[in-house]
Amino acid sequence: MTEKKHVALVLAAGRGSRMNSETPKQFLELEGRPLICYALQAFQESFADEIILVTGPEQVSYCRTEIVEKYGFSKVKRIVPGGAERYDSVYRGLCAAQDCDYIYIHDGARPFLDAGMLDRARRCVEECGACAAGMPVKDTIKVTDENDYVRFTPDRSRVWQIQTPQVFSFLVIRNAYERMFEEGNLCGITDDAMVAERYSSVNVRLFEGSYRNIKVTTPEDLFLAKILLKK
Ligand code: C5P
Repeated sequence: MTEKKHVALVLAAGRGSRMNSETPKQFLELEGRPLICYALQAFQESFADEIILVTGPEQVSYCRTEIVEKYGFSKVKRIVPGGAERYDSVYRGLCAAQDCDYIYIHDGARPFLDAGMLDRARRCVEECGACAAGMPVKDTIKVTDENDYVRFTPDRSRVWQIQTPQVFSFLVIRNAYERMFEEGNLCGITDDAMVAERYSSVNVRLFEGSYRNIKVTTPEDLFLAKILLKK
């Protein structure tokens, strides 16, 4: 059997407006290193063959010198300018990824990706072709109408909060994204699994992420990340 090629697509093109900071959240310092370094390090030390980093058009050269070269992320083969929305950034990254079997799409703002999670992702995608990290919710979830009245309460044991990495057979997700852009229905797309659910025939399976695998979005998250990192 020929070896499969696993490529990581790390997203760092968000503006981080909820962080109330001039610096985009993925470049804020976390224990002396820019936040984005943690996810890149996890992929650098993993079985991944290559990393594609997607960042803001004006941050490409900063990423090359101050992140990739400075910290020696030799698996980063391409730094691609992202787009206005997360799905635009993902699509640009997918267009830059050629000749690979599996693609691991990960939010650069999630620093606590670890080797165990990547192994679970690999096993899951090799079996089903489309999967996403998630954790069972701890709180009861309610779905409301537009006036905040409760419409229904889903069975908690079947409700997960979704994280990244989200991992796919490359052609499945690239074709799904292409179909989505052709149809132009981009409303409410917040993750890649949704694109596969809507525009491919593959069922997305969830695998165990981690409660530590937070997305650093607000100043409170940064505070929490510092504490988690010390543990
Ligand atoms: O905005 P959100 O919190 O959903 O961002 C999740 C990840 O997607 C972050 O790592 C962010 O940098 C990235 N992103 C991106 N391009 C955008 C918006 C978000 O790469 N236009």
